[in-house]
Amino acid sequence: MSATGILLIVSGPSGSGKTTLCRRLANENRARYSISCTTRAPRPGETDGRDYHFLSKEEFERRLSVGDFLEYAMVHGNFYGTLKSEVSDHLEAGTHVVMDIDVQGAGQVRACGDPQIQKALVDLFVMPPTYDELRVRLTGRGTDSEEIIELRMKNALEEIEHWRSYTYRLLSLTPEEDYRRFEALVAAEELRVSRAAEIG
Ligand code: 5GP
Repeated sequence: MSATGILLIVSGPSGSGKTTLCRRLANENRARYSISCTTRAPRPGETDGRDYHFLSKEEFERRLSVGDFLEYAMVHGNFYGTLKSEVSDHLEAGTHVVMDIDVQGAGQVRACGDPQIQKALVDLFVMPPTYDELRVRLTGRGTDSEEIIELRMKNALEEIEHWRSYTYRLLSLTPEEDYRRFEALVAAEELRVSRAAEIG
């Protein structure tokens, strides 16, 4: 028996820096980034198959009906979901998988009865250090109207209400400091007896 990979679920409001953390872990070959499916349109600079699998609503619903998704949710009016194929085989092979998903999806993964998933699961909520800092981060993104910023702030506050459902919480400071603690969590979870292989 080889060691199982870790399934690292990372949630948090937009502006928390969670996507940067997940992408960096994958870029440094510490984990595989689970590429989600979404029905939202690609943003400028996003590539199909790298940022997301961009699907039509019909295709998303077809995949849902045949049981392809580990979890899915409606976020801001669009469907998002994780394909089982992005996760299971990689965990089995001992590769860590990092998932950047919302609080609804995290709840579904936590509730799923699959023993492989339960053994692999680690969940983390990434949070801005203060509400003022969150507002600065959501404002600092560009030239958005006050109305859009208020909507993002409202969505962020709703998301933050769920942080106590997670095992770990990371209060975001600087990108470097955040990544150091994020990586330390992965390193600690790699030592868990429940996931360890026999010595050869
Ligand atoms: P965005 O459209 O800004 O890329 O993502 C919007 C939200 O959807 C983020 O909170 C992100 O974490 C979440 N999200 C992305 N992929 C998935 C997924 O596969 N499942 C769920 N439940 N949420 C996702």
